[in-house]
Amino acid sequence: MNDDTTELAEAPLSKRDFLKGAATTLALSTLPLAARQALAAEPWDLVVVGGGSAGLPAAIFAAERGASVLVIEGSHRIGGTLDRSSGQLSAAGTSLQKAKGIVDNPDLHFEDVLRISKNTVNRELVRLAVDNAPDTLHWLLKLGWRPLPEHPVKGSGHEAYSIPRYQWGAEAAMSVYRALEPVVIRLLQQEKITILTQTQVTDLIPGPAGSVAGVTARGADGQKTDFRAAHVAITSGGAGGDPIAFEKLNGAPLYCRMAYPYNRGAGVELGESMGGYIRGKENYLGNDGAVLLDTDYPSPYSAGVLTNPVDRAPWEVFVNVAGKRFVKEGEPSVDVREHAVLNQPKHRYWIVFDQRILDKAPPLLNGWSREQIQAAFGKHHMFFKGESLAALARWAGVDAAGLRASIASYNRNQAKGKDPDFGRTHMPLPVAQAPFYAIRVQAFSILTYGGLAVDDQLRVARKDGPPVPNLFAAGEVLGKGNLSGHAYVGGMSLTPALSFGRMISQKFIDV
Ligand SMILES: Cc1cc2nc3c(=O)[nH]c(=O)nc-3n(C[C@H](O)[C@H](O)[C@H](O)COP(=O)(O)OP(=O)(O)OC[C@H]3O[C@@H](n4cnc5c(N)ncnc54)[C@H](O)[C@@H]3O)c2cc1C
Repeated sequence: MNDDTTELAEAPLSKRDFLKGAATTLALSTLPLAARQALAAEPWDLVVVGGGSAGLPAAIFAAERGASVLVIEGSHRIGGTLDRSSGQLSAAGTSLQKAKGIVDNPDLHFEDVLRISKNTVNRELVRLAVDNAPDTLHWLLKLGWRPLPEHPVKGSGHEAYSIPRYQWGAEAAMSVYRALEPVVIRLLQQEKITILTQTQVTDLIPGPAGSVAGVTARGADGQKTDFRAAHVAITSGGAGGDPIAFEKLNGAPLYCRMAYPYNRGAGVELGESMGGYIRGKENYLGNDGAVLLDTDYPSPYSAGVLTNPVDRAPWEVFVNVAGKRFVKEGEPSVDVREHAVLNQPKHRYWIVFDQRILDKAPPLLNGWSREQIQAAFGKHHMFFKGESLAALARWAGVDAAGLRASIASYNRNQAKGKDPDFGRTHMPLPVAQAPFYAIRVQAFSILTYGGLAVDDQLRVARKDGPPVPNLFAAGEVLGKGNLSGHAYVGGMSLTPALSFGRMISQKFIDV
């Protein structure tokens, strides 16, 4: 874990982080050492490590029960990933569904998660998540959160649910944040919650009989303070802010810089220091790809590709580094597309087309005009152009013989209107008229698949003994690979984060 708070306090936030974060979330000033030491003098009922999607509900519900709550937050503000998450929530048996005559229940939700993930999830954790998702949604509704009017839906960005149980607000996850923020402000004003920002939890303090006695945290001034607590909740997110920690927990590189930069895998290390262990890493899966800005890892995101036939039928040909086609372009199953790309070297592929396709097809990149796409060749690192397929292959770094053979075969299939290789039906034009173009697409995950094992009360589990009795964990620190399996199951990150944070304080701690 990188616990150098000076570096973290100065970690460069992107323009997007700054605009979204500074404009919309509650910023709190950091406390000087003497004030932190005063807070350290009192024993807390609950210390929450990280004030984001899981940490805020944990803090709110504990404070509402009369517990003394200290939230220790590494960044300059609360909210964590809620500033950038799409905020898509899934829950079954909700009042929103009933109002639209949709029949659903947590058992059906559970079955659908097993179907989509091909039974690769942690069943105990998913059961806990789907059983408690409706209460979370109803709580958000009570706080003023509202989904888009046409929701719930089955979803199309991830493999679709079989029943509409998927919804989000007009401002994505900021809609969730806006519902939570007034509660946090009220609890701060009532002095029921204390929040310490720009303070990194670096260690857990061992207590008697395998328990924890509190946490050690480092302020922006570099000084460490111990805080004593009856319970500790680790809600510090995944590891998408740190390429090394991310790769350790995913077994794959962090290709894209998009996660909350303060989430650096600290929670897993804290849990491990008490005998906790990691699970879910084997389920790593990237999305089906996007265009990144450059070849650095992690690279900023540049553009989304319209690979889903719901959005756009395919005109181009997709090839891997060997120049070979590997999936049906326009494959309707998101999951099939994602797994096809996962099997390609470095999880990347090239979208190949010619001038006629560029002129005639609807633009391939989300939000980009044809003119913008044309202008990117020669300027953008991921856009390649050649007067022949051989020249294109050289620029793009793709095997030339493989590319020539694949395009020749595709063109023959296109002329016959039949694709015996992949069963593609939409093939409006051959790839035949120079200049030829290729755009490199990278599949990636911004979510962390490996995470801390917990028991059915969300206590950090140990392989060689009982769980740590008063150490809880919720949110992405539990590992996406456990709640979503070897798949992207809609809403199965944010909804469980909110639910489990709530449940730790509502059901599992003694106050
Ligand atoms: C772009 C994007 C889109 C997404 N869309 C969806 C979606 O539509 N649906 C869905 O289900 N999921 C989605 N997710 C995932 C989901 O939003 C996250 O998994 C979830 O919000 C994580 O919640 P968390 O509480 O674990 O982490 P966070 O909300 O990030 O909170 C963690 C907090 O801990 C703090 N912290 C970290 N380390 C320390 C430390 N050592 N000491 C103190 N504080 C620390 C951080 O600063 C942060 O504030 C998306 C994620 C991203 C990035």
